[in-house]
Amino acid sequence: MLLEDVEALKKKIKALIAFRVIFATLLLGSFYLSSGYSKLPSAFALSYLIISLYVVTIVYSLLLVRVKRLVLFAYTQLVLDVIFEIILIYITGGIESWFSFTLILTVISSSIVLNKRAGYFIATLSSILYGVLVNLQFYNVLPLTIGEIIEEKNYLSNIFVHTIAFYLTAYLSGYLSSRLEKTVKKLEEKVMDLRDLEYFNREVIEGLPSGLFTTDLSGKVLTFNRAAERITGVKKESLIGRRIDSVLPYFKIPFSEGRTEGTIMVDGVQKIVGLGVSPFRGIDESTKGFIGIFQDLTQLKRLEAEMKQKEKWAAIGELSSNIAHEIRNPLASLKGSIEMLKEDSIPKNHKERLMEIALNEMERLNRIITDFLTYSRPTPPECKKFDLHGLLDDAIELLKNVEQNNRNNISIQKNYNDIIEINADPQKMRQVFWNLGINAIEAMIEGGELIITTKNTGGFIEISFKDSGTGIAAKDIEKIFYPFFTTKEQGTGLGLAIAYRIVEEHNGIIRVDSRTGNGTIFNIMLPVTDEKA
Ligand code: ADP
Ligand code: MG
Repeated sequence: MLLEDVEALKKKIKALIAFRVIFATLLLGSFYLSSGYSKLPSAFALSYLIISLYVVTIVYSLLLVRVKRLVLFAYTQLVLDVIFEIILIYITGGIESWFSFTLILTVISSSIVLNKRAGYFIATLSSILYGVLVNLQFYNVLPLTIGEIIEEKNYLSNIFVHTIAFYLTAYLSGYLSSRLEKTVKKLEEKVMDLRDLEYFNREVIEGLPSGLFTTDLSGKVLTFNRAAERITGVKKESLIGRRIDSVLPYFKIPFSEGRTEGTIMVDGVQKIVGLGVSPFRGIDESTKGFIGIFQDLTQLKRLEAEMKQKEKWAAIGELSSNIAHEIRNPLASLKGSIEMLKEDSIPKNHKERLMEIALNEMERLNRIITDFLTYSRPTPPECKKFDLHGLLDDAIELLKNVEQNNRNNISIQKNYNDIIEINADPQKMRQVFWNLGINAIEAMIEGGELIITTKNTGGFIEISFKDSGTGIAAKDIEKIFYPFFTTKEQGTGLGLAIAYRIVEEHNGIIRVDSRTGNGTIFNIMLPVTDEKA
């Protein structure tokens, strides 16, 4: 048996003992006072019975604390009750006694204190003992105390009626008490649920690390958790029942949808707060009020700003070291050439060669610096409408010249679709096409083919440069648009960085698709704009 059940049974047995003694006192007391007593043939017997009942009650009470086998204890009491009652019935006239109803009370008690089965057991015991008593009277083994003659069929029907009554009582009381038990169990579960809910409310909502408030439809505060108090520095007591913005102006009513950020002043210190408010609905789906959840973002924002600052410094540092590196190389060869030129003894043709190297290096330095300035100090684009294909043709002409003067093993194809007029800065666009074209040529040392395709897809103008060159290694592809990223000995790594920047200035996108050995395709998408230049 569970501990709770033991406690419950103990309580029931206590009630049984109390009920018995109170009932006996009242019933028998009133019987003494009434006229019935004087008619009794054995008044002493009744007195003995009552005294022993009290004695038994005292014994029961003493035993209750000590007894371990409570069910057996209860059975013993109930059986003894039946015996007491049979004696009582016998004393008060047997078949004529109206105390036979006390047996019914014991049947009911047994159903309540124990269970249905005990009810039937006591009903059976009562029927047998009552039957025996009445039969003994019928056969005159026990004397009929109140001398009248009773007919045989009265004896039988009396026994019959009593037996039926006992069993019916056992059935009904058993049914009711089991129903009652179930209901009590259910009720207890409900109470547990409620307690859980209360716990949830208190611990979870109060323990939430975010500030939480709820208001009714007019913005009057219903709940305000601990974190909310901590963040705002406002005590719950000073808010409950008042409009939230009367104390905390940041929480403006009506609440704005989605997440918002703002600042609040807490003890003279500014705090950044992120707030999300959503309506809460009742069971009937109608809006009942609002739930707001907010966080103190001050620390986070500070960290974020610090991170950004750090990233910026890191990028600047990297860029600076790249520039230094790019400039130092040509400077070193310049220095070398000039130092050698200082010697008087070197032959004339050697001198000329050194001069040429020095000039070339200066040229290269100049180019790096110009490119870098183009990249780092972009001028705003001066847009105008022009024919895209005309501009591309010019660029291709220049590329061809360069190529033919070099190795002359590359063919450049045009694949123009539609007539395309774009609104852009032609100077800058020329730069983009030049950078992409030169890269393509440089990637096709063994010769190959560059196809330039244009398309107007409605929303966008697409320009692609597809070459059959070396392709780009997967590990490099993310870096090719970074300034100073180059895989070429003489490269500056600024061509694509500049192209990227210019396309971005035109609100376009530049993408690359390439694999080592498979050629490369650069795709530029420029939005079609209607504005006049
Ligand atoms: P640079 O040409 O001075 O190296 P870019 O910014 O123009 O600098 O290009 C960066 C790098 O991207 C190149 O060094 C090269 O490795 C790679 N790259 C760019 N275009 C192509 C291409 N069409 N095919 C293969 N690799 C390319
Ligand atoms: Mg380049």
